[in-house]
Amino acid sequence: MKKAVQLTGLSQTELVSFVETLGEPAYRGRQLFAALQHRRQRSFDEITDLPKDLRSRLSDIANAATLKIESRYLSDDGTRRYLMKTHDNLPVETVFIPEERRDTICFSSQSGCPLQCTFCLTAQLGLLRSLTAGEIVEQIQIALNDAYGTGVKPPRGTNLVAMGAGEPLLNLDELLKALRVMADPQGMHIVPNRVTVSTAGIVPRILDLAQTSDRPHLAISLAAPTDELRDELMPINKRWPIDELLSACKVFEKTLKPNERLTFEYVMLDGVNDSDEQARQLANLLNRHNIKSKVNLIPHNPADPLPYRPSPDETVERFKHILESKGVHTYVRRPRGRDIFAACGQLAARQVTLTSLVGADT
Ligand code: SAH
Repeated sequence: MKKAVQLTGLSQTELVSFVETLGEPAYRGRQLFAALQHRRQRSFDEITDLPKDLRSRLSDIANAATLKIESRYLSDDGTRRYLMKTHDNLPVETVFIPEERRDTICFSSQSGCPLQCTFCLTAQLGLLRSLTAGEIVEQIQIALNDAYGTGVKPPRGTNLVAMGAGEPLLNLDELLKALRVMADPQGMHIVPNRVTVSTAGIVPRILDLAQTSDRPHLAISLAAPTDELRDELMPINKRWPIDELLSACKVFEKTLKPNERLTFEYVMLDGVNDSDEQARQLANLLNRHNIKSKVNLIPHNPADPLPYRPSPDETVERFKHILESKGVHTYVRRPRGRDIFAACGQLAARQVTLTSLVGADT
């Protein structure tokens, strides 16, 4: 593909400057922003409020969209998974999760992932590359357009979670850029307060995020209460062990708003990290660091090559009870879209044949 400017990653101000370099007036940039970010139009042909010759000049040097939908899967529970391809043919996955009062879109920050968490299927892809701001924005546009139609305002609010493929804090600049574009009230208007970024624990970037104004919420994937076990499950722990990670969380805590809490995610692996003793260790660890936080227990989503089983429901409940008895706020995350490989840790560009496959388009 020709080297073209990805317009979906540009802010309104940047789009104005861009059209000015073409000798066009500033308002054309604002029109373009409204078309791309407010109406979520994905081809210049659709943007009929711009003159035809401008559209044709734009299409010579820029892209209104770069991701293509390859497959779309619909779960029994209403969750949708999109498998897309970048212009250089790399997989990108996004999950749309309708809930009663809001929708949640789980997007990817990288194609593949360089971290080697043993319970996560994405690890098997390795890192293909980090995604651009435009590619991040487009995932949200594609999911909203598919759910509601191009140009239609979503009837419910949209929450975003950077919990798809990849380690978002290894792509922090592009991620924050995408979030700034999406926050614009004249665009999608999804504000950082509606966004949660999950990290395996890239300590220096947690400290950077703490210094970022208008930052999203933060979740930390813990998965183990001791370094010995965490080293095994999440090798990134060898670089930044638990105490360093929690010290960074303590710094981040100072930036929490009154009602905000840091989230610790804990994937529950049967017989590996779900014993009563480990629940007590986890509670003691979090209490020792005394961070305003809550714990999300995530029952493991199994996938063929992964050597784990999900903890039984009773074990999850007991684990939760022990944490709560020690004053730790604990929630259990209900798995969504397991049947279509859309649940946490299942994103590895799987092409599955299902009766619920609803076809592909762009
Ligand atoms: N790399 C980031 C973003 C991925 S978020 C991170 O590690 O936080 C995905 C969440 O799902 C993480 O909390 C991760 O620990 C969890 N997860 C990964 N594999 C899983 C699996 N097979 N079952 C359940 N949760 C899983």
